[in-house]
Amino acid sequence: MKIAVIGTGYVGLVTGTCLADLGHEVIGVDKEKAKIDMLNRGKVTIYEVGLPELLGRNLGKSLNFTTNTHDAVFESEIVFITVGTPRGEEGKADMRYAVEAAEEIASAMDGYKIVVNKSTMPVGSTKLVERVINERAEGREFDVVSNPEFLREGSAVRDFMHPDRIVIGTDSQRAAGIMAELYKPLKAPLFITDPASAEMIKYASNAFLATKVSFINAIANICEAVDADVKEVAMGMGYDHRIGFEFLRSGPGFGGSCFPKDCQALMEIARSSGYNFYLLDGVMQVNREQMELMAKKVERRLGGLEGKKIAAWGLAFKANTDDVRDSPALEIIRILIERGAQVCAYDPEAMQNALAIFPDLDCSANAIDALRDADLLLIMTDWDQFKMQDFRAVKELMRAPEILDTRNCLDPLSIRRLGFNYEGVGR
Ligand code: NAD
Repeated sequence: MKIAVIGTGYVGLVTGTCLADLGHEVIGVDKEKAKIDMLNRGKVTIYEVGLPELLGRNLGKSLNFTTNTHDAVFESEIVFITVGTPRGEEGKADMRYAVEAAEEIASAMDGYKIVVNKSTMPVGSTKLVERVINERAEGREFDVVSNPEFLREGSAVRDFMHPDRIVIGTDSQRAAGIMAELYKPLKAPLFITDPASAEMIKYASNAFLATKVSFINAIANICEAVDADVKEVAMGMGYDHRIGFEFLRSGPGFGGSCFPKDCQALMEIARSSGYNFYLLDGVMQVNREQMELMAKKVERRLGGLEGKKIAAWGLAFKANTDDVRDSPALEIIRILIERGAQVCAYDPEAMQNALAIFPDLDCSANAIDALRDADLLLIMTDWDQFKMQDFRAVKELMRAPEILDTRNCLDPLSIRRLGFNYEGVGR
């Protein structure tokens, strides 16, 4: 099938590249010319495992990139909207980019097309996009479908290619049939429902996962007080198939470009429909406090922060991505610096993005350099390379053998055996 993907960010680039690899003809569109130039040179614009290989295999054949929305839409039967829907006023999803994309799509409408809302958009957005297109392309035949994306950064290609389910929200049998055909090669369960339910499924899923994270973080904080180990507790809980092992890892709090903004947007959807979502409010409050708790742990270990030097490993909101949007690491570093600490940070992939929003951040060229004369090593993202360091050498470089592992990614026993004072979360 001929497909246009409007917005080649984390979701659009992965979606377009994977669909091309599945045998469809894809044109990726972005308004940022530098991005498109880079992609046309075969260079990926984000860090995502497996993506460079897929791009290399399909570029110039079934996959092309342009800044020209009109031509891309004109050529296509299916048009994906994958632009950002960031946090807007009062936590509402900012639909400005999606509306802009819909207006541009409308101007290139000729025959029947399916417009797919793949970005995370609030309930009612399928109707909104329909209205925007209708205003500009009256009489043209089209369907707007909600098809939320569930991929995770860090394993986005695998997640796209092997989804647990594909959700299609539409009242049109014709569109549902074409979407089913599009995704046929993935052999994944297809859940076809009405647009409002599809839109709600995305927000409800993210809010539920965020709830699991805040729940286990709250349990971790109790574990610390009663001398239990949250890793053992989570393992024992996870064996219950009604609970499962996933998303029960305590840490510095959830972050990233989705959970915080989607929880807030759902709060807003609830509020405007007259429902007070106390539960989700609590989930977000636990999350905010968790970051503050991490900073307090550092402060307590060091007996104050003024003039203390902290080596911070990890800036991305989780391992295997370069994304720092709403990263707990950056928030914790901000608190530490505000209270007088000196922080030297390192991340294998996310430093450039971090410096773009935190220009004064002191970064080092590698993990080892960040450690020199540090009073404490603060691990905030569980990159494999951090777990595999020679901790004897790490200890030699530091002023004091203090580690706060906010990801519980090191083995406390072996680290303590090397002479470190080690603290994790909930252990
Ligand atoms: P992003 O910021 O990485 O990418 C958005 C891209 O759209 C940018 O490159 C921007 O230049 C481009 N763009 C904006 N307006 C445009 C226009 N009119 N024409 C062409 N290009 C335009 O965002 P993202 O992380 O890929 O997220 C996109 C959507 O997918 C959001 O709604 C997000 O909530 C949702 N989502 C994200 C993830 C994730 O892990 N990042 C997962 C699932 C769903």
